[in-house]
Amino acid sequence: MTIKEIITVPDEILKKVSQPIEKIGVNEKKLIDDLFVTMYNANGIGLAAVQIGILKRILVVDISNKDEKNQPIALVNPVIKKLGDDKSVYEEGCLSIPETFIEIERPKICEVEYIDEKGEKKNLKCDGLLSTCIQHEINHLDGKLIIDHLSKLKKDFIIKKISKIKKNPDRIVV
Ligand code: ZN
Repeated sequence: MTIKEIITVPDEILKKVSQPIEKIGVNEKKLIDDLFVTMYNANGIGLAAVQIGILKRILVVDISNKDEKNQPIALVNPVIKKLGDDKSVYEEGCLSIPETFIEIERPKICEVEYIDEKGEKKNLKCDGLLSTCIQHEINHLDGKLIIDHLSKLKKDFIIKKISKIKKNPDRIVV
């Protein structure tokens, strides 16, 4: 298990479409482990493989609270089968877009089909936070980010702001 560096905007890889997995082998299992430790280390509730630079359709989520037992779910080749009509709104952040939160409306309920880390086909009905989290992560697999919900002007502004922060990584106050 290795904690990986999380890729942030404006890295072009985040816009790419990830490829389906044919078989879950040693590499995919290691990738799932790396995704979990990287996500927990960053205090995130979801992470897609592309965010650590690997264009495979794999993502992990865990929406449990700090005082609860972990509820890790790894989803390989996830496909949304149904979206409910009711909507819910969350202020969403993204580990690939530091210090940015955007209110996004998404279907409150979704049904997702995927393969788990053992290669078994699963079907998961998600509601509320889990539903939003999984939709957010599946967007990553298709190269879509939360800033794509904004106007071009606002999007450019956020990317510029983050690029500036990145250029001064050694700034210290003593
Ligand atoms: Zn994200």
